[in-house]
Amino acid sequence: MRQSDGLFQQRHAARVCSVMLVVVVWFTSAILSGAILSGALMPSSAHAAENSILGLRLGVIGVEGDAAQSEQTLRVVIETRTPVTPRVTLLHDPYRLVVDMPATHWQVENVPPRGILAKPPARAYRFGKPTPDMGRVVIELDAPAIPVRRFSLPLENGGYRLVLDLVDRGATAFSVAAKVLSREQMPVSRPLANASPALPAEPLSATVAASNGAASNGAANTTPVPKPAAVPKPADAAPPATASTVATPLAKPRKWVVFIDAGHGGKDPGAIGHSKTQEKHITLAAALELARQLRATGVVEPVLSRDDDRYLRLRERIQLARSREADVFISLHADAAPSAKAYGLSIFTLSDTASDKEAALLAKKENQADLIGGPDLAVEDPQAADELLRMFQRESMNQSTYLASAILNQIGDLPGGTKRGHRFAGFAVLKAPDMPSVLVEMGFVTNRRDESNLKKESYRRKVVERLARAIIAYLEEYGPRR
Ligand SMILES: [Zn+2]
Repeated sequence: MRQSDGLFQQRHAARVCSVMLVVVVWFTSAILSGAILSGALMPSSAHAAENSILGLRLGVIGVEGDAAQSEQTLRVVIETRTPVTPRVTLLHDPYRLVVDMPATHWQVENVPPRGILAKPPARAYRFGKPTPDMGRVVIELDAPAIPVRRFSLPLENGGYRLVLDLVDRGATAFSVAAKVLSREQMPVSRPLANASPALPAEPLSATVAASNGAASNGAANTTPVPKPAAVPKPADAAPPATASTVATPLAKPRKWVVFIDAGHGGKDPGAIGHSKTQEKHITLAAALELARQLRATGVVEPVLSRDDDRYLRLRERIQLARSREADVFISLHADAAPSAKAYGLSIFTLSDTASDKEAALLAKKENQADLIGGPDLAVEDPQAADELLRMFQRESMNQSTYLASAILNQIGDLPGGTKRGHRFAGFAVLKAPDMPSVLVEMGFVTNRRDESNLKKESYRRKVVERLARAIIAYLEEYGPRR
């Protein structure tokens, strides 16, 4: 029972702390507003272009019409006196969303400029002024959530709301988004039709109080909730000294997640070879071998789209990869051509325009796998329609190119390994906006030598060894830190 006594005391202490804090903050803000009132009489302190933050709200929402409806979206709403043009950045270790707003002050009633949040993945916030003419809100996250939408709305009682929607798409997506945001401004999205401006979240003051309660309700061995500092320290890019100790997961070395997609399967046999070899069997055998080899490295957790002869839609494959927060997506195929002379390996990455007519035809053929299950591919991909995601997609297309080069560097000694090279086409299976993705055509089942090679376990092992080496080389250079 000592434990529960301790828990009660912790809880009690936390409650007393937060009551005291509110009192302290109330006095501080009373003194501050007095100072502002008297200061307003002095002409030197009047600054026409100054803005203030009047509120900060966070809540978890579901956005209907979003392609990935199952995704939890964290909505961050920053209420300001006048409209803001923010600069949004993302930082690692810990994951942080940083919103810089020119000439903006913190003026949220009864709420200190830093504190704990209990809105996963948001765990803490702080406000600071990195330079005298810049206001900065930092939201500390315990998951790699990236902004997928930004828009502004007027506030009912005057003022403005800057809305940012964040979704956790894994460490690689975070790296990609951080890289893009470091050099490009975040575009303004169209507010979604059903994106109600009324966020179903309580004001921050309530959030802070609730989080203090929730944290002390946790396991008895959690450390007491650190009291948010009453005196604001300048918030900067560095992690805070306090406020990050609650519910911090133990850091453990993360394995890279490689998603291996065995092309076709089930009712979709893929290409049919000279001696009636079905592509779907070759892709599955190669995928299983690649998984085995990658697992043996000890630094990769391989995930297979299928480990048996089943049919999967192309979009299901992407969704599976995303749900496992894959760092790399590799789709394995074997080609077919009207001419039995065509042979060799091709590495494809996504592009709006195919590198050549043959590549365009091949993409059309591979994409038809979805038509077998229903013509849902005809529907435009709502994910790709978002400007911000297009930005992220451009970056992951660059990343995919690096991965393709790493593969080409390895396969030069295979028959036809240097012949066909890196090519571009609009493969549906490569359309994940936030994962470096490549499609490997391992050879032609319509070519006698390629076909007989691909049927041999020893040859497949040789191809896969090179793919595994290339994937590790790519991840070591460009992958997220483990
Ligand atoms: Zn195929």
